[in-house]
Amino acid sequence: MRIDIMTLFCDMCERVLNESIIKRARENGFVEINCRNIRDYTTDKHNNVDDTPYGGGMGMIMQAQPIYDCYESICNETGKRPHLIYMSPQGKVLTQQRVKELSKLDNIVILCGHYEGVDERIIEEIVDEEISVGDYVLTGGELPALILADSITRLLPGVLSDNECFEDESHYNGLLEYPQYTRPFEWHGKKVPEVLLSGHHANINRWRRDKSIQRTNKKRPDMIEKIKDTFDKNDLEALKNNCE
Ligand code: SAM
Repeated sequence: MRIDIMTLFCDMCERVLNESIIKRARENGFVEINCRNIRDYTTDKHNNVDDTPYGGGMGMIMQAQPIYDCYESICNETGKRPHLIYMSPQGKVLTQQRVKELSKLDNIVILCGHYEGVDERIIEEIVDEEISVGDYVLTGGELPALILADSITRLLPGVLSDNECFEDESHYNGLLEYPQYTRPFEWHGKKVPEVLLSGHHANINRWRRDKSIQRTNKKRPDMIEKIKDTFDKNDLEALKNNCE
């Protein structure tokens, strides 16, 4: 998969993308992530990329021309018009389901706004989708773009050692993950649940599923409501005996 991030702050993005799992995924060719500096595409003789808002008011607005030309250059390189996502507090809040869908695409482009945002005409002209990372406002779209790129990359084949790494995780199948433990067996007087040492995989899986259901019900009852209809007899029993 290829992800192009259009930003005024390439260094900020590269610093995060050059760490840990994402760095390895890039090096091993599981994902190509390019940071494109929007400023490189301005035709303004002073290299400006923003201006004051028509009608007055605070702050600066990112101009349409450099963003448009930056996207056009990506289109020319890829030979198509990749799905363009504008990170925005006005977009739909990102979910694991949307991450899963986006991870199936060959190519996406992410636009990071800054200052007071971008000229509305760029949204009308080239943006396919607006995505928010939550109902609050950040100074720029870089952190949201990195969240999106990270969440997509870890789902790509080969990036994690096994699909199980993410299939059991919170949100993948509408539940939160079960509790996890590692050595030592006893810490601060608290012991690891015996079933996890039993080596009995069916019992371990049942225990984990029960715990997932119970803690989701406790922490995020809204999520349980959405999937309750798919529960079998054992799942409903776990929900009834809510002991999390
Ligand atoms: N004036 C805009 C508004 O009220 O909708 C907010 C602009 S914000 C200060 C600057 C940029 O940060 C936005 O253009 C967007 O790219 C990014 N941004 C801020 N909050 C975000 C969020 N919750 N999700 C995604 N992007 C966000």
